[in-house]
Amino acid sequence: MNKIEQMKAEKDGLDILKDLGHIIEQGIEKTPQEDIDRLRWYGLFYRKRLDGHFMLRIRVPNGVLNEEQWRIVVELGELYGRGFVDITSRQGLQIRWIQLKDFPDILLKLEKVGLSPLQTGFDNVRNIMGCPVAGLDEQELIDTTPLIREIDQMIVGNKAFTNLPRKFNISLSGCCEDCAHADINDIGFVPAQKEREGLHVTGFNINLGGALAPTYQKLAEPANIFVWPDQVVSITRAILELYRDFGPREKRFKARLMHLLEDWGMERFREELQKKVEWQLEPASPLVKVTSHRGDHIGLHAQKQSGYYYAGLHVPVGRLTTQQLLSCGLLAAQYGTGEVRLTAHQDLVIPSIPEEMVEEFRSEPILNELSIDPKSMLRGTVSCTGRQHCDKAIIETKNFAVETAKLLDKQFGGGAPLSIHWSGCPNSCGQHQIADIGLQGTKTKIDGVMVDAVDIYLGGHLGAESKLGQLVASKVPCSQVHDILEGFIQKMQESKQVQQPNYTR
Ligand code: SF4
Repeated sequence: MNKIEQMKAEKDGLDILKDLGHIIEQGIEKTPQEDIDRLRWYGLFYRKRLDGHFMLRIRVPNGVLNEEQWRIVVELGELYGRGFVDITSRQGLQIRWIQLKDFPDILLKLEKVGLSPLQTGFDNVRNIMGCPVAGLDEQELIDTTPLIREIDQMIVGNKAFTNLPRKFNISLSGCCEDCAHADINDIGFVPAQKEREGLHVTGFNINLGGALAPTYQKLAEPANIFVWPDQVVSITRAILELYRDFGPREKRFKARLMHLLEDWGMERFREELQKKVEWQLEPASPLVKVTSHRGDHIGLHAQKQSGYYYAGLHVPVGRLTTQQLLSCGLLAAQYGTGEVRLTAHQDLVIPSIPEEMVEEFRSEPILNELSIDPKSMLRGTVSCTGRQHCDKAIIETKNFAVETAKLLDKQFGGGAPLSIHWSGCPNSCGQHQIADIGLQGTKTKIDGVMVDAVDIYLGGHLGAESKLGQLVASKVPCSQVHDILEGFIQKMQESKQVQQPNYTR
């Protein structure tokens, strides 16, 4: 067993809560590394770069926050997070500058409103992604929000799933535009239809084994399995159990579901899965309804509920002050139902604005900061945390990503949006391989001096024919990135190489 496997076998990560008082009392300096690692089962990430404070990650299934929930997030950000909150590329939330002594109070506050930080780090099932406009989108085939909540409830706090070989990502969406990034998840449920009594009825095809990691990047493969909505939770449990019990654990960099699939092959995986479910597995349906990739939900869009609109607000690189989140929440309460949603593009959605209030909504001052009509390059920019707060980072990302986008917007700001994703190291939290332009942090030397640099990838996209970006330039000093991207974008626009997401509705 490697060290991590030993650590998990000795004590379940969730059991660290019992030791929290002792850890707080003795101080983190005297706490064994294994216990510091176990705190990640409670979403607590120790950060040397935060002067020894913690980063707290919160699950937000499907990215949906009700009024009570965003109010608590604002309160926690104000009280403990120095006034800001980040939206992650898995529709979750991160608050920094947390002190361990405050965690019991934080946990109580979160639990009271039905939020949880549990199992957001290490070898657990991470936040479950869905379409951020589920239940609102005019063209969705099925609202998957209740199913996502059911899977979340099955997993969170359940020790059956707290010792997986590695982390595990799930995406489940009923929309046709892959807003939930099915192909970079371990399980991607993709809407599909089959005929039942002469009607087309919606279920899901299953893709398995997608992952973006430092040593491997792979899009999920079709498993040739179709499930009906009432089979989704059971099949998820069965896949997780197979992975937990048979997934390779010897080497950390070869322990994701894709590695089990490599060992077994998809055919054997299906056979083993068949033994675990009580129904006959059905082959995938050719009536797959993923048509394109919706890059974002920015702007005002008609809902399927006649007379109502949702507003997508652009949050530059996902960083919000608590005052901005409060302003958005208050708008949601004033114009909508109080609900605020988070997208995989690190933006916000306010649902259910009555048509007659749309013009008044457009004039709200917060939209000058969080625009419903941002310039093209900033709109498509996504960034991981980077050196400012992440111990693994090789370069600074968020501020530099915004600066670069603003410079590019001077030339390309009125044109078609491009996705530009930044990751500060090979861990790919910014998902740079799925963007039109992807940048991964590295270092290079100029005149013998080490400087921040990036490897540049082009041509990645998700949707009907998903594809990972290809490396086109290595070790480009950050000081030259703007000039180089200008050239790339010019060429891409001239040759129309870019797959344009559907931003029109
Ligand atoms: Fe940190 Fe690297 Fe992830 Fe960015 S990609 S948040 S730098 S681990």
